[in-house]
Amino acid sequence: MKMNPQRSKVLILGGGAAGIFSSIQLAELVKGDGDTEKKIEISVYEKSESPLGKVKISGGGRCNVTHNLFSEEELSHKYPRGSRELKYAFIKFQPRDTIQWFKKHGVELKAEEDGRMFPISNSSSTIINCFLKEIKNNDIQLITKTGITSIYFQSEEGRNVFHLTNESGEVVTADALLIASGSNRKVWTKIQAMGHKIEEPVPSLFTFNVPDSPYQELPGISVPHVEVKILPKGKLQSGPLLITHWGFSGPAILKLSAYEARELAERNYESEFQINWLPNHSSESLFTYLNDMRVQNPQKSVQSTSLFQFPSRLTDTFFQLSNISESKRWAEVSNEEIRSLIGTLRETKLKMSGKTTFKEEFVTCGGIKRSEVNFETMESKKIPGLFFAGEVLDVDGITGGFNFQNAWTTGFIAANGIKLYLQKHKIM
Ligand SMILES: Cc1cc2nc3c(=O)[nH]c(=O)nc-3n(C[C@H](O)[C@H](O)[C@H](O)COP(=O)(O)OP(=O)(O)OC[C@H]3O[C@@H](n4cnc5c(N)ncnc54)[C@H](O)[C@@H]3O)c2cc1C
Repeated sequence: MKMNPQRSKVLILGGGAAGIFSSIQLAELVKGDGDTEKKIEISVYEKSESPLGKVKISGGGRCNVTHNLFSEEELSHKYPRGSRELKYAFIKFQPRDTIQWFKKHGVELKAEEDGRMFPISNSSSTIINCFLKEIKNNDIQLITKTGITSIYFQSEEGRNVFHLTNESGEVVTADALLIASGSNRKVWTKIQAMGHKIEEPVPSLFTFNVPDSPYQELPGISVPHVEVKILPKGKLQSGPLLITHWGFSGPAILKLSAYEARELAERNYESEFQINWLPNHSSESLFTYLNDMRVQNPQKSVQSTSLFQFPSRLTDTFFQLSNISESKRWAEVSNEEIRSLIGTLRETKLKMSGKTTFKEEFVTCGGIKRSEVNFETMESKKIPGLFFAGEVLDVDGITGGFNFQNAWTTGFIAANGIKLYLQKHKIM
């Protein structure tokens, strides 16, 4: 389609969650001004055959759109990188706004028990179809199978004009550029060449491989609440834990992988870590509990004991690791053995050796240095007229819908920022 030279041109690099959402938001904002004459041309360039590739496969095909959490402060704590900036960004657009936005556009979301929110259809195509309908309604040009290969900008009449070359060798010009390329290394290299610092990208949200785990024979067992940390001095993370045939997974491990993403990358994913299976009990209260067990059931074998509602196979492993023979009667268990059992329950030490991708959701830690971006507008502090949204930034969340929420929030702010920028420079 030929561009009208009188209209301001906004180019969006990347047709993923952030780029597509932001394009619709910008078109609606401009339309909302009540001026019927079209003042802006928005083009989204997407290198893949279809846009929204990650949305499609997200949440196991169900798309975990956001999280049922509405306090900006609490939300911000779900982001190992970017929490300070997002705390204020969420005042402008947070999960409550996401729910309303989708509702206004015909998509109802529902919350699951753990707070994750999905379309009621349980299908990511509902989200994709909603976006594609709005792209069409708002006359946004979506150009697929056309990657951007180079970006160049120069100052013209007191503002920057962007010239981008696409895969066909065509040069397109824009008054404002939004980069929403996700975790694409080639684009990061280009942004770096433009003068921005890129925090080294490393994976986040992965599960731990523990080849010699004594728990290896127990895959599928989950424990609702544990505390985990990497040794020697990691910060504690808590939540449900899942034993897998290759090691450990579940929200507690995914959280640990996110908060320690950089440290674990530096250790080449070879690290000691520790599990506290009973974080709500002190050593003293455990001693009292186990001693009572001994006093009240002297003739009972330890094997027939149910401990804290753990599955019996897991309890058996705890006894084995504490060198307490399962055939022993409680009366024969010494104080030293009780202390050893408490040690196992509170401080299981294991060796992670490698990681496995968590197929439902993974993100990249790293990206454009946050201090070089104005989170009030998502505009670059170095290059006026250049905006960023989504995972291209050094922002990432834990699993549960927080990564898409970052895409919606920064996409929303970028759309507003672009509109203000165009108005300020009288190009709209
Ligand atoms: C398997 C999987 C499941 C996930 N599930 C969830 C979930 O349920 N909930 C959640 O919150 N998060 C989830 N995430 C994370 C979430 O998908 C991302 O955080 C989110 O998609 C980031 O949005 P984005 O628009 O910044 O980047 P992306 O969605 O990655 O979009 C970037 C787009 O830019 C395009 N692009 C890159 N370079 C160029 C170029 N040079 N020219 C043109 N186009 C280009 C890419 O092809 C891509 O389409 C999941 C991630 C994965 C991998």
